[in-house]
Amino acid sequence: MKKATVSLILLAFMACKAQERVIVKEVIKEVATEKKDIYPKNIILMIGDGMGLGQISAGMYNQGNKTVLEEFPVIGIHKPAAIDNLITDSAAAATSFACGIKTYNGAIGVNADTIPVKTILEEAEERGLATGLVATSTIVHATPASFIAHNKARKNYEEIAEDFLETEIDIFIGGGKKYFDRRNDDRDLLSEFKGYKISHYAEKELQEISLDTNFNIGYLTADADPIPAAQGRDYLVPASRIAVEFLDKKGTNGFFLMIEGAQIDWGGHANNSDYILTEFSDFDKAIAQVLEFVKRDGETLLIVTADHETGGYAIQPESTMDSLVTAFTSTYHTGTMIPVFAYGPQAERFAGIYENTEIYFKMRQAYQWAKLLSK
Ligand SMILES: [Zn+2]
Repeated sequence: MKKATVSLILLAFMACKAQERVIVKEVIKEVATEKKDIYPKNIILMIGDGMGLGQISAGMYNQGNKTVLEEFPVIGIHKPAAIDNLITDSAAAATSFACGIKTYNGAIGVNADTIPVKTILEEAEERGLATGLVATSTIVHATPASFIAHNKARKNYEEIAEDFLETEIDIFIGGGKKYFDRRNDDRDLLSEFKGYKISHYAEKELQEISLDTNFNIGYLTADADPIPAAQGRDYLVPASRIAVEFLDKKGTNGFFLMIEGAQIDWGGHANNSDYILTEFSDFDKAIAQVLEFVKRDGETLLIVTADHETGGYAIQPESTMDSLVTAFTSTYHTGTMIPVFAYGPQAERFAGIYENTEIYFKMRQAYQWAKLLSK
């Protein structure tokens, strides 16, 4: 090859490189503005109660080393402590997510002085968004309750049920029928809902309910606590799909939906590894179902986290992928920090380490509600 030809090729190559650099720069700029400017219309918050990294790890190994959580591009960690106790309960923790405040264990949507604080679900309602709650516990249990009710004590289930009549929540699905229609005050709250299609497990299958957006929907999956997945409870996946579909149709201004996999926690309290694994698997499937919508939709931010870890659940040295040997340090919650997984517009806000209250503020920022409240 002659010297001149080599130089020419080199020149051409350099020109190409320079152009490439410009293009790369442009692309980076575009992606950056895109990320900054695109905000979600909808937010779905999924809470695996008692789901620490031990539960996620064991659940993943149990599923052939796979979990849908691996698809989430942004991971953060939250600090779950309550105001009065390093070890939070589900009520204080869910109130932190729902209201952006630290409060005491047992508090449902109230601050440390038992004063009601508006929840993100109530704020969403006020702003004309559609809202929903789905849980594998009773719908008046601590986690869902903290998004819709205000009570000084989580055990006041009948009072919490009354608070469902105070909002215009568009869809709720969970157990606890008896707190609505077999009460100490003899009221039948199910007949007091106006503008709702209310039904329950004894009347019809969840899949048979009408998704007429002229109405709101309430569906009670059990009289008291729903049974474990291992005993045949199988509604979380269809309930998540139905709630998302319905809210997407109804929420012309967007929607807020909280979905709870409640019984991962109950497996921890029972120090029952199989219970944890089957409940994790059920929750993982529900996340996969929701993520499919989120990918298709492009306007939805999905956040998956837990309120706290339960059981001090650990994978022991004798374990293999197929045969886990696990141990517990407690029958109660522990104080370990909790992972947060985010997908969709504004997901990057959820990277880093922060207090559990920040989840509330980050969601508000993602909705572009309150720039002044942002940190
Ligand atoms: Zn909990």
